[in-house]
Amino acid sequence: FPSSLTTSNFNSPPFLLRYFSVRAMASHVVGYPRMGPKRELKFALESFWDGKSSAEDLQNVAADLRSSIWKQMSDAGIKFIPSNTFSYYDQVLDTTAMLGAVPPRYGWNGGEIGFDVYFSMARGNASVPAMEMTKWFDTNYHYIVPELGPEVNFSYASHKAVIEYKEAKALGVDTVPVLVGPVSYLLLSKPAKGVEKSFSLLSLIDKILPIYQEVVAELKAAGATWIQFDEPKLVMDLGVHELQAFTHAYSALEASLSGLNVLIETYFADVPVEAYKTLISLKSVTGFGFDLVRGTKTLDLIKGGFPSGKYLFAGVVDGRNIWANDLASSLSVLHALEGIVGKDKLVVSTSCSLLHTAVDLVNEPKLDKEIKSWLAFAAQKVVEVNALAKALSGQKDGEFFSANAAAQASRKSSPRVTNEAVQQAAAALKGSDHRRATNVSDRLDAQQKKLNLPILPTTTIGSFPQTLELRRVRREYKAKKVSEEDYVEAIKKEINKVVKLQEELDIDVLVHGEPERNDMVEYFGEQLSGFAFTANGWVQSYGSRCVKPPIIYGDVSRPKAMTVFWSSLAQSMTKRPMKGMLTGPVTILNWSFVRNDQPRFETCYQIALAIKDEVEDLEKAGITVIQIDEAALREGLPLRKSEHAFYLNWAVHSFRITNCGVEDSTQIHTHMCYSNFNDIIHSIIDMDADVITIENSRSDEKLLSVFREGVKYGAGIGPGVYDIHSPRIPSEEEIADRVEKMLAVLESNILWVNPDCGLKTRKYAEVKPALSNMVAAAKRLRTKF
Ligand code: GLN
Ligand code: ZN
Repeated sequence: FPSSLTTSNFNSPPFLLRYFSVRAMASHVVGYPRMGPKRELKFALESFWDGKSSAEDLQNVAADLRSSIWKQMSDAGIKFIPSNTFSYYDQVLDTTAMLGAVPPRYGWNGGEIGFDVYFSMARGNASVPAMEMTKWFDTNYHYIVPELGPEVNFSYASHKAVIEYKEAKALGVDTVPVLVGPVSYLLLSKPAKGVEKSFSLLSLIDKILPIYQEVVAELKAAGATWIQFDEPKLVMDLGVHELQAFTHAYSALEASLSGLNVLIETYFADVPVEAYKTLISLKSVTGFGFDLVRGTKTLDLIKGGFPSGKYLFAGVVDGRNIWANDLASSLSVLHALEGIVGKDKLVVSTSCSLLHTAVDLVNEPKLDKEIKSWLAFAAQKVVEVNALAKALSGQKDGEFFSANAAAQASRKSSPRVTNEAVQQAAAALKGSDHRRATNVSDRLDAQQKKLNLPILPTTTIGSFPQTLELRRVRREYKAKKVSEEDYVEAIKKEINKVVKLQEELDIDVLVHGEPERNDMVEYFGEQLSGFAFTANGWVQSYGSRCVKPPIIYGDVSRPKAMTVFWSSLAQSMTKRPMKGMLTGPVTILNWSFVRNDQPRFETCYQIALAIKDEVEDLEKAGITVIQIDEAALREGLPLRKSEHAFYLNWAVHSFRITNCGVEDSTQIHTHMCYSNFNDIIHSIIDMDADVITIENSRSDEKLLSVFREGVKYGAGIGPGVYDIHSPRIPSEEEIADRVEKMLAVLESNILWVNPDCGLKTRKYAEVKPALSNMVAAAKRLRTKF
């Protein structure tokens, strides 16, 4: 056995024990979070980018994180431990580096790709912007989109996979190196600028396979016995041509893969039948990984036929959520699978990489004990995987299983989870329709009588810049270092400042600026029952950015009004209409860790009812314009087209529930943060909001083309007139120009003038001139009518 097993970094069990335990337990982890339990990588990256620490410092932090992860999995007894799932930024970008597919604008001259070129691609540099980033399937993780064309000269330009394999080996851990599979890589790419639309990305397959062959050869030479190719694109709606690419790629790789065990890993959904057939017929492959949590049909597929002699990596431990596994129920699934594939061919695994869950429950000392017993973060999931594998091999850890069963039972019966009244109210909503009684154009008339707005009314999306001082007051109030009285005074002053500023700018419909909110979901979650919050439950969103989703563990209700105090206060400061500002149910749902003991729509309906109460309280308090943000509505769209209609139906219904009870004269706004809304335009219209403001600044044409194509749209609409993500200040001309382009397509009586999104992350020095130009542009155009 490798002498490296005796290195001092690891307290390896004695050889024989290790040998037998390895034989007996087949456990696997698809991938692991990189950020570290306390976001160590984030801070190391940001300090390096700021020039405050060296490349070596960064590399040391990264190496420590990797070794502690490997050690943790090794100690837990995991047999198939992944390597190369670490990344300084993103695994797809790592693959781009491996293939030497650097877009020419980054001035790379060959050789091994270093931090310079790598981070320029990820983040841009002084002279060149970053590559595009987009969502990784339906997660909140974002990857860097490869830009490929017929001209790309692929070359083996990053040896990271091999280096990390060797690094682990030197620490005494024999790992399974993980690569983004060649077909998924191409299908996740986009054609480079200037490449004709007809260009087929898959036509590059024979150009990238030789690089994969080189990598595989090096891994083999370094001693790897297994290799994992992540091919998550297999869960999507693929055509015959795309499926053929898999057959082609893996048979082309067959010779170089011989002598190696090959695992193809899929995740985030079940694999459609045709894809499943293609997959299991790949001869060069030894094992197949499936998501058995989200992949609701996977079990049937496997029961319908699984190639004999091949390994099944059964993803029963959820990588997308934070709930402790129901071990007894997983075990029975595993037993059933064992009967199909054979005892020695079944491997217990996670449903996907643990990248999408929080890191370690150990760092949550403040979390309520009972709730904590219901949870498992990445570190705990590793232990669960192994416990299941051990149980399968007849070495069930009785204590661990009974503690788990007790936690499952307490979660099922806890009065903190179940609220009968809420359950009944939500159940009563199913199958019913909720809509305001009057149609939108009549409502707009009723509202205009009350609001008396000019044409092309101006407004903003909600938040105003959050200064350091403001963040400090909020933090100290939370830590009880500032009294309630002083806190209210400070926030009141801030609201007053924002109101006065908007009056000076002559904006028509005002906002209070959201100074009391840290985050648009957390703020509501903290005031609703059924939510819990972690101290370190961070999940990587992109690069060094992480989010900390709230945990919805129980039936959601609203003990008392959440925003009425601040909104009424703000309204009392001005004669102009002050928008009440709420986060919508779908967005709260999509940006939280949600319950797995009831369907998502049920939880969403519960949140909708709580927000409905808030909407009605705002109306009673005299607020005549209420904005219900649904920033993340599109994000929740399922991966497969066959499931879109169902999701959109309950999501849009949930939104309507929140405001179906208000007077015609109360104006309901919503806001959405994405530019690609063309494919769901009918659902957006079906939300039946009076006014929708929408992020648009990077794709006017795309948005407007829907209306040009004749979609009937009678509600108010405010496509953002400038990009708030950039510090650049747009000129009056530029804004007027854009509004005019919109007017060529949309009626002047429905068009609103507003920025793209909230102003929270901008500085006042940018916001003031930008808004002043925006109002001037609107006024200039009004004179034309
Ligand atoms: N009202 C929120 C704000 O202005 C909306 C933010 C968002 O859409 N992401 O900050
Ligand atoms: Zn937005």
